[in-house]
Amino acid sequence: MFSLASILRPHIATLTPYSSARDEYTGTEGVFLDANENAFGSTTSAGRYNRYPDPHQTAIKARLAPIKGVSAGQIFLGNGSDEPIDLLIRATCRPGQDNIVILPPTYGMYEVSANLNDVAVQKVPLTAEYQLNLPAVLSAIDAQTKLVWICSPNNPTGNLIDPAAIRQVLDAAQSSLVVVDEAYIDFAGPGYASWITQLAHYPNLVVLQTFSKAWGLAALRLGMCFASPEVIRVMNLIKPPYNISAPTQALALDALNHVAEKEQMVAETLAERARLADALRRLPTVQHVFPSDANFLLVRFDEANDVFNQLIDSQVIVRNRSSVTRCEGCLRISVGTPAENDRLMAVLEGMTVALSNL
Ligand SMILES: *Cc1c(COP(=O)(O)O)cnc(C)c1O
Repeated sequence: MFSLASILRPHIATLTPYSSARDEYTGTEGVFLDANENAFGSTTSAGRYNRYPDPHQTAIKARLAPIKGVSAGQIFLGNGSDEPIDLLIRATCRPGQDNIVILPPTYGMYEVSANLNDVAVQKVPLTAEYQLNLPAVLSAIDAQTKLVWICSPNNPTGNLIDPAAIRQVLDAAQSSLVVVDEAYIDFAGPGYASWITQLAHYPNLVVLQTFSKAWGLAALRLGMCFASPEVIRVMNLIKPPYNISAPTQALALDALNHVAEKEQMVAETLAERARLADALRRLPTVQHVFPSDANFLLVRFDEANDVFNQLIDSQVIVRNRSSVTRCEGCLRISVGTPAENDRLMAVLEGMTVALSNL
């Protein structure tokens, strides 16, 4: 039986929340002399930013909840996904004692955050097919494992992790939280439901999403975390009070009125992803284009470092993953606009011609 209280660090379980000025009076009308703000205005012509933002992001959560099919109390918003990643570690892992389980090759921030917090990282590599190695994951989870991180669709491999395997981890890991990072979920094939739909079944499930990818708002730094109200309550307890700025809140609220535009950009990305994958597969230097449920392609080249450097020389910048275990010889290529993808292909095709002239 999962019990959140038993996996929290003891001092977190008994912490008293900071009560901000904006918590103690929640009305919107009045003479506000409670937060030592500048009553006269702001030093920018871009607008008035002299008041502290809503620490609970009430308006965004009210709009987001029906879109995601959860209650507002199941939503945490962070300064990028980086913030919930860090807060989950700090809420549960005792430095020098507890550990997290990650499944490399995967997103780097889980390990970075664990290292920063002096929390051990147990690595269970994905299989050669980039799927979860279930027996190895289950045996890596020990009494000190507080968090299991599963990225699906996974970065940098691009594939979804088999839901049946994730289910088994959720069932088995009764003294850990299982975090499913769905940063790329909007680009996943039809028929794949977000793990948000399973929150009611799994009190140990936490789902991360972000405004950085499909929503096109990476510059705002706004990450979403969905979990039980108990988990969300703890994250709100330990976050910096004003963690989401007022401009970010206003712009995110506006973005939520533009779901159709998001869907349109996702559709264009998917069309370009297919076109780019086809074009890459025709190149003689390309060994393999991995299937992708994300907005990028993992591509294995004959000479990945040479390709990477020549792309750089032509001012086309991709991510070199060729020294990452299980990604040997691979570059990770984000799907661009049609013109950007044409440019990438022109450089790669030019290289192929140059090589064949040797
Ligand atoms: C891009 C990405 C994120 C998003 O991070 P933000 O801090 O929200 O921009 C989260 N997880 C994975 C796996 C990613 O690739």
